[in-house]
Formats: sequence, structure tokens, C-alpha cells
Amino acid sequence: MMKKAWYKYLIIGSVVFLAIVAIIFVIDKKNKTRITNSDKNLQVSGDNIQKADSKAPVITLIGSPEITIEAGTDYEDSGCMAVDEADGDISEKVTKDKLVDSDVTGDVKIIYSVKNSAGIEVHTERIVHVVDTTAPDINLIDGTTYYIKNGTQYCEPGYEAEDSCDGNLTSKVKVSGNVDTQTDGKYTLTYEVEDAAGNKTSVERCVRVYSPMPDNTVNPGNKVVYLTFDDGPGKYTQRLLDVLDKYNVKATFFVTNGKPAYQNLIGKEAADGHTVAIHSASHEYSKIYQSLDAYFEDFDEMNDIIQQQTGEKTDLLRFPGGSSNTVSATYCYGIMSQLVCAVEAKGLRYCDWNVSSGDAGEVNSSSQVVNNVINGIKANNVSVVLQHDTREFSVDAVEEIIQWGLSEGYTFLPITDTTPMSHHKVNN
Ligand code: ZN
Repeated sequence: MMKKAWYKYLIIGSVVFLAIVAIIFVIDKKNKTRITNSDKNLQVSGDNIQKADSKAPVITLIGSPEITIEAGTDYEDSGCMAVDEADGDISEKVTKDKLVDSDVTGDVKIIYSVKNSAGIEVHTERIVHVVDTTAPDINLIDGTTYYIKNGTQYCEPGYEAEDSCDGNLTSKVKVSGNVDTQTDGKYTLTYEVEDAAGNKTSVERCVRVYSPMPDNTVNPGNKVVYLTFDDGPGKYTQRLLDVLDKYNVKATFFVTNGKPAYQNLIGKEAADGHTVAIHSASHEYSKIYQSLDAYFEDFDEMNDIIQQQTGEKTDLLRFPGGSSNTVSATYCYGIMSQLVCAVEAKGLRYCDWNVSSGDAGEVNSSSQVVNNVINGIKANNVSVVLQHDTREFSVDAVEEIIQWGLSEGYTFLPITDTTPMSHHKVNN
């Protein structure tokens, strides 16, 4: 019994094994057949298969795949190149799915697509970051310096704020700071604004409160300014007198007879409380610097005119070109050395300057005159400022110089008998 059973199991086992081997063989055979068929197809219809399986075009970005641009600026897409093995250059067929609106901040993903004639489509993409890092602009109407007379009410001259993304932000400007219009001095107002992206702008306005010069000012000894004007009177002298009068500032005029038609203004200058002194009747270097006699002849001629206009002569003078001029050497070697001694021997006084506006030389605008004079005044305890009332732009600068000086606590004075003289080093 036992033996029979053993054979039975062996037979069943053998059948199962053979069946498995047969199945494996069949499956393997099937696969092999499929591969063979496929190979046959390729060989038979090679052209058709080639097309169906043709290569995809190659699309290549021109420029970076990631670009950051400032909002509000123009974005120019540099596009893509596309090349297909069969179709050649198909760059012109590249399409993009969207345009960049540079007025809107954020990230824009541009997808570029191209399809070859076999219908195979490929894509590539570019990210454009539209960012706003530009702060708004604040424009202060009437400028960053504002002058106001003591005792008058401060009225905000106004401002405008503009942002490249957000447009007009004027209503969002915050103004801080105070102006005490009862006390001379300078006050700072701060104007601030922020755009939607958080970019902030802050600008300041300096408000300067001044008082006109009081009558009978006592010389404080420091922070003193002597405004002096050479070469007039002329066309702009009356305008200058009006400005000086507005601030009750007294100045000094070193006059000439260059424009006889304006001689009467010499009398007006004196009548207004300014000091009138001699510059030169002719102001011709070649004439006056030939000799001592020639100089004093011209000097006397001018002093006579002054006497006619003001009722009295003066002992105060300023040499054309100043005592330091070297042009005079062309006409007489050593003439300035002789003159400075000669005028003092005659009991006369000559006055040079220590602040030059530059208005007779390189400077040709009011703002440059203002800067030069203000910087010069800041550098001196006592300033003698040289300007020319024959220069319109220089006359136009005077009001701001005075407003600035008054708000800074300077005292403007005319040169008088007791004023110490400013002298240059003599060079001829
Ligand atoms: Zn001069």
C-alpha cells in the first residue's frame, strides 16, 4: 500500500512540473514571436514608422529662465529659439501663453510652446518676477527751504507724492514737525510716504523764520555781515535798494561813474542809510594804475560826484581788483604797494573783502552766488561780502542771502568809520 501511494505522488508531481515548464515555454515563445513581428514591421514600413516616431523639436530660451524686473518698467521678452530635425528653424512658430503686465507686482510664468509639422509639441518656461523696490517721490512745492517773516502765519506751500506703481500718493503723505513763527530760527518739517510694497520716502523742508534788522543795531562783534556792492550804480541798483529796504538791511556801495545816467542812485543809497564809498570813476585799470597821480585824479573825480549826490565826500575806498590785484603790474610795477601806503598817508581807508560771491568771474547764476556767499559767511566770524550790483543774477541772490543770514542770527551792518578794514595781501 505504501509503495503504491509513493508512485502516485511521483506521477502527479511530474505532471505538474511538466505543465509549468510547458506554460513557461509557451509564454516565452509568445514574447519572442511578438518581438520578431515588430522587427518585421519596422523593416517593412520603415518610412511610416520613422514619421510616427520622429524626434521632438528642441526649444531653447533666449536669455535667463528667471528674470526680475522693476514694476512700471517695460518688459521685453527675449523669446525662444526652436529647431526641428525635419522642419529646420521653427522659432517663428513659438507661441507664449501670456504677456507680462509690469504694472502688477508678482511672479509671471510664461510658457512657450512650439509644434513641428509631425504634430509633436514641446514647451519651456520662464519666470518673470515683477518687483517694486522703487520708493515714491515727494516733491516739495516752493523747495526744501522756506523763509517766513517772524509773526506771520506759516501756510504749508504744498507737496506731491508719486509712485511708479501706485500712482499719486499725495493724500498718504504724513507731515511732522513744528514751526514757531514767533521765534527766529530754523525748523524742520518731515514729509513721509510709503507705497504698497513698503518702500518709504522721507524728505525734509527747512523753514527759516527771520526778523528784519532792527534800527540802531549795536554791533555784536560776531556773526556780522557787511554786504558790499561794487561797480554800480546801474540798471539793477534800484531793485537791490528795494530788497535791502524790505529787510531793513544796510549795505555798502563802492560806486563808479560807469553809468552816469544812474548817478542819482548814489544819493538814494546814502539817503536810505547805506554807506557810499569810492571804487573808481573810470574803473579803467590801464588809466588808474599808471601812477599815484593818475589814481588820485580818478579818485577825486569820483569823490566829487559823491559829494554832489550825497552832500559829503568819503574817506573810504576799494581798489578796482582789490589791493591784491596783479593786473596793475602790467601798467606800473609796484603801484599797489605804493597806493596802500599813499591812501593811508592821506587818512583814507581801503577795504577789501573776505567772502567773494564769484559774480565777476566763474559764477553766472543766482543759486551759485547764494551758495558761495552763504558758505563764505559760515566760514567767517565777520564777513565782508563782495558782489556787483551791475550783475542782475547777483542782485537776484541778495534776498535769499539776507533771509538766510537773518534766520541764522547774523547781523548785517554797513561799513562805518569804526569798522575794522579787511585787507588782502598786496601782490604788486
Ligand atoms: Zn570793480
